[in-house]
Amino acid sequence: AKPRVVIVGGGAGGATAARYIAKDSQGAIDVILIEPTRTYYTCFFSNLYIGGFRELNSIAHNYGGLASEYGVNVVHDWVIGVDRDAKTVSTAAGHSLAYDRLIVAPGIDFVDGAVPGWSTAAQNKMPHSWKAGSQTQLLKAQIEAMPEGGTFCMVAPPNPYRCPPGPYERISMVAHVLKERNPTAKILVADPKPKFSKMALFQEGWERHYTGMVEWLGPDFGGGNVSVDPDAMTVDIDGSVEKVDVCNVIPAQKAGHIAQVAGLTDASGFCPIVPATMQSRMDENIHVLGDATIAGDMPKSGFSANSQAKVAAMAVRAALTGSRAFPAKFSNTCWSLIDTDDGVKVGASYQATEEKIAKVDGFISQTGEDAALRKATYEESLGWYAGITADMFG
Ligand code: FAD
Repeated sequence: AKPRVVIVGGGAGGATAARYIAKDSQGAIDVILIEPTRTYYTCFFSNLYIGGFRELNSIAHNYGGLASEYGVNVVHDWVIGVDRDAKTVSTAAGHSLAYDRLIVAPGIDFVDGAVPGWSTAAQNKMPHSWKAGSQTQLLKAQIEAMPEGGTFCMVAPPNPYRCPPGPYERISMVAHVLKERNPTAKILVADPKPKFSKMALFQEGWERHYTGMVEWLGPDFGGGNVSVDPDAMTVDIDGSVEKVDVCNVIPAQKAGHIAQVAGLTDASGFCPIVPATMQSRMDENIHVLGDATIAGDMPKSGFSANSQAKVAAMAVRAALTGSRAFPAKFSNTCWSLIDTDDGVKVGASYQATEEKIAKVDGFISQTGEDAALRKATYEESLGWYAGITADMFG
């Protein structure tokens, strides 16, 4: 029988791994991808959908190409257990599937109780929209229905979390919508972090495009001591209770629950990996990808997950078919849109050391850049989105 790879999760990491293993092994490896959803909405560019720069269907992808072009066996089901001794996974629908190598790429889940008063049961009153799809649609609708002069509040997450610049790109996109539709509205950000990704760039952009609209409260101003009451639509920031009209709660995060069930997480809630191959430090037959990992200097991003997936795919093929493996190289860029044609970016290349995925060199947009460069940066991001989603889903 052919060697078999089972992949848990068909997001940025899992879809890329499925495509690369199937494509490059040319049928020598049996690839099974297990993913519950039939349509995957990318979180990347979901903020642009909120801002009115993209249609929802432009961030939707399906698995037909992986099945028809590359022969990936796509199973729409949930993995609920991993038997590491027997090398099998079990699914919610009651199936058991054997693997020679397992790839675990389940993204993130939220830490229960991270924001007192908030729970998944309350996510329609106070959406997280940190997994894209229905939650993103809901948040957009709530922003557009805000009363004149109303308040939008974001409860920003502590490190480490999916997409470091994501909350601040979202603030920019919310401000863009409100500036057009509801210019007397206010935006409040309660943040447990004293600084955040591309902070100077965002703050310059907010000042320039959305003067006086965004109030950011870091930990010195109580941003780290927040609770919410979804029924009353209030936010308590360090004892000061605010009535708000829309509240975007982005809780603290951990690896997708199945990673913990499989015994792949450590006390941090994320999965330690061997950088050169993305193998779990807990089990050499398992590779972990993307947001679920402790990826050293790499941020949790779709670009990172895609880059890590290629490293894992090469290692898996080498282990199962004897193909050649080259030294692991990783890269990432995170683009953010601040306002129409005002794009910024931060990125780096990385290599595997024994201990961690280590940054080699990097770049970041500068404050005060001219409009033409910012427009070119935004256009570069459009090309990136088209290219990377084709690299994931075919
Ligand atoms: P995911 O893409 O979340 O995929 C995980 C998949 O696993 C899901 O489809 C899920 O259904 C499935 N799954 C979970 N549990 C199971 C199970 N038990 N069984 C089977 N399947 C399971 N990144 C960028 O590179 N650029 C950006 O511009 C960018 N913008 C962002 C903006 C926002 C608002 C957000 C929230 C994120 C953004 N990101 C961006 C980050 C990016 O979306 C994530 O880092 C990326 O999706 C991580 O990929 P992943 O494969 O680890 O997880």
